[in-house]
Amino acid sequence: MQNTKFLDTPIEYLKGIGPVKGELLKKELGIFNFRDFLYHFPYRYIDKTRFHAISDLHENSGQVLLKGTLRRLETIGEGRKKRMVGRFRDDSGAIDLVWFSGLRWLEKVLQVGSEYVVYGKVYSFQEKKTISHPEMELATQAGTAERPSFDPVYPSTEKLNNKGLDVKNRRKLVRSLLEGLPEGAAPENLSPRLLQALQLMPHREALEQIHFPKDQEALEAARLRLKFEELFFLQLRLLQLKTHNQERIKGYVFEQIGNFFHTFFEEHLPFELTEAQKNVLKEIRRDLKSGIQMNRLLQGDVGSGKTIVAVMTMLMAIDNGYQACMMAPTEILAQQHYSGVKDYLEPLGLEVRFLSGSVSGKKRKTILEDLGAGKIHILIGTHALIEEPVKFHQLGLAITDEQHRFGVEQRAKLWAKGKPFPPHILVMTATPIPRTLAMTLYGDLDVSVINTLPPGRKPIQTLHKTENHRLQVFGFIRQEIQLGRQVYVVYPLIEESEKLDLLNLEAGYHALSREFPPPQYQISVVHGKMKPADKDYEMQRFVEGKTQIMVATTVIEVGVNVPNASVMVIENAERFGLSQLHQLRGRVGRGAEQSYCLLMTGFKLSEEGRERIRTMVQTNDGFEIAEADLRLRGPGNMEGTQQSGILQFRIADLVHDGKLLEKVRNIARKVLDEDPLLEKDENQPLKTYLDSHFKSWKGWSKIS
Ligand code: ADP
Ligand code: MG
Repeated sequence: MQNTKFLDTPIEYLKGIGPVKGELLKKELGIFNFRDFLYHFPYRYIDKTRFHAISDLHENSGQVLLKGTLRRLETIGEGRKKRMVGRFRDDSGAIDLVWFSGLRWLEKVLQVGSEYVVYGKVYSFQEKKTISHPEMELATQAGTAERPSFDPVYPSTEKLNNKGLDVKNRRKLVRSLLEGLPEGAAPENLSPRLLQALQLMPHREALEQIHFPKDQEALEAARLRLKFEELFFLQLRLLQLKTHNQERIKGYVFEQIGNFFHTFFEEHLPFELTEAQKNVLKEIRRDLKSGIQMNRLLQGDVGSGKTIVAVMTMLMAIDNGYQACMMAPTEILAQQHYSGVKDYLEPLGLEVRFLSGSVSGKKRKTILEDLGAGKIHILIGTHALIEEPVKFHQLGLAITDEQHRFGVEQRAKLWAKGKPFPPHILVMTATPIPRTLAMTLYGDLDVSVINTLPPGRKPIQTLHKTENHRLQVFGFIRQEIQLGRQVYVVYPLIEESEKLDLLNLEAGYHALSREFPPPQYQISVVHGKMKPADKDYEMQRFVEGKTQIMVATTVIEVGVNVPNASVMVIENAERFGLSQLHQLRGRVGRGAEQSYCLLMTGFKLSEEGRERIRTMVQTNDGFEIAEADLRLRGPGNMEGTQQSGILQFRIADLVHDGKLLEKVRNIARKVLDEDPLLEKDENQPLKTYLDSHFKSWKGWSKIS
């Protein structure tokens, strides 16, 4: 039993480490104890079973492993240019090895005439193939029978290397730690049944094989096993949390589908709902009558028709005698929701009001009174709805639009508004999150998806244009305006280069004004540095069709709806992230007309920038774009996932392990269905592991 504590031993006590290196490991790699050291897995391996032929090497060969003879060694150059060059030859040809530091030591240890195994990255120097600072090992010592043929390589830093914790040393230390690992120090944490059913490698063996695989097959098996357990325990915890929440948090029961809903559905609904919309409404309906508080995330691409789902959900609340509120992250968007919802619901005799920070004085006082007295059915607004000491008569449902700008704190405040139960919560977002991320990030939420657009939409045509197409683009804008359409021109604005960005926008505005002069043409300008009142005024002019062109920064990104706008020009498109580009594009294509998105960029694009533009041109599907974003930027950097410690894995990787995650989640669910509290004998390893590893887990606050 004591042995389970073995891995908690501070790292400086590992033989060969000591206080100085120990301190460095903590600082540089966050390795504090034996466990951290052991579970810091190699990120690649040197395959000592296969060697490259020198004659096959070229500039793009990357990391290669060579076997040959060191023929010559000479020191050339002076001062900073001083370097040592070794001539290395195999049966097929020769290559130069170069060192710029540690020359004296190298001179001592390298043996001219001996056979070496060399590992390093090939590059071209003065047309000669070269490897600088290769790893060198005498062939007699490398890859022999008693040593494995894969050498692990660990993430490291310059400082660690300089302090003698280079890769070779690291291997030695890991090996001796593994060899000295007492029985029971790294106990099996999966049940025999799971191991058996899934044919997984036992934990201890996986630990050994991940560091020193005996062959490719063993390496794969070890990887799979460790990925599995990493994903499995997280999902197990998330699912437990979800069940736990559902038991604890009772919610209002919306027993009936009542008059308002029926009347609206039968007499006022301006179109037929899509299948996807109907399904989501069914899911919501099930939640609302279950007696458990709803916590549902509704994902749907821009234009997929989330608003009407929100409206009909609010009717379910009102039919049962409750009030509903709806919040949006910006004043403009909240206003739009307000006027939209009012148009839908006032004909039914419902009282819909607007509240934001800008509503003050007597107006505000009346709203608050009416709200408290239950005269208002629906309150729509900004965060002010919950920041304020706003008191509802009986708040049964809260809807937030564009969730990724809605923090955890705000959700908590919302909860406090309900009595005796917290209101049901529907969170809507048009930033689709790939399933794998949603499962982890929102593991405690139920997720609904609207995955089809309403019928009759023409897909937006997206084109990539460079500076030399500028006149052509102007011509196109003119043509569309003549057809009675409106045009957005969007500029990037980021904090780091704010001044320059604003200048850019201004220059763009002037160029457009010259090209499209008044009185024939009118142009609105909106950017984040303007006073809210001015912004709203300009915005309003565009919404009402008084201006044909809207020059703006990304303030228009979220939710704004001008169906008559058919062209979205995005300047410096390479500077936007994928999800942002997609959001912006979603501002057009809302009416029946063919719409266009023009991505303007310079000629020079980074590889990633080019890939983003290519993705945008190729697809209109938000989920596909989210997947691409995930691939390009990694899970931690996507919109809505930033700073989520929960997405940091040791070995699993949400980009590539989506399928595995799906499978793991199902298995975790099955285990919990059979044994919710993990009380069965066979599940004791699971319980022990969860209890010891997730006790003080900080992930909770981030996801609930
Ligand atoms: P989003 O999901 O981006 O919030 P909206 O709710 O604003 O999308 O809907 C976009 C447009 O599609 C609106 O003009 C809306 O009236 C229309 N719409 C929504 N559902 C349907 C439907 N089932 N059939 C036809 N049009 C629809
Ligand atoms: Mg919307």
